[in-house]
Amino acid sequence: MIDAQGLDELVRDIEDPELPHVTIGDLGIVRDVTIDHGTATVLLTPTYTGCPATDQIRDDVTTVVRDAGYEPDVRLVMSPAWSTDWISERGRERLRLAGIAPPSPVADQGATPVEPPVACPRCGSRRSRLISEFGATACKAAYVCEACSEPFEHFKPL
Ligand SMILES: [Zn+2]
Repeated sequence: MIDAQGLDELVRDIEDPELPHVTIGDLGIVRDVTIDHGTATVLLTPTYTGCPATDQIRDDVTTVVRDAGYEPDVRLVMSPAWSTDWISERGRERLRLAGIAPPSPVADQGATPVEPPVACPRCGSRRSRLISEFGATACKAAYVCEACSEPFEHFKPL
């Protein structure tokens, strides 16, 4: 049987159903993994409230825990609320590689009320234009790059 640390790594390695190659560890939504008498408790903080991916992630975590030989106890922790600032550097790089502009930091938003233009994940140009507040999913907005004219998605800062 693998220990809590090994299980923690397996859980963090689960890919997000909507973001190719980005793991839930990269997204920073895995709060804690503990094992007590054969039961593995996993605490997850969902990204966006009502994001349909949450149910899928919960199912995937349950499967991984069960396959590892433990009784799954997957709980959602809503507070403190998840922020895009929790996405790791590796996660941001993977979003970029998937053609999705990573979210800008929200921590200093109070000082800068106007968001800088979103950089195109393909060519890096900031000459981008918002097409729609909602892309393929509510978590992302659709943009088009005026430099290379490629459409792309931007993971909204939260
Ligand atoms: Zn571009």
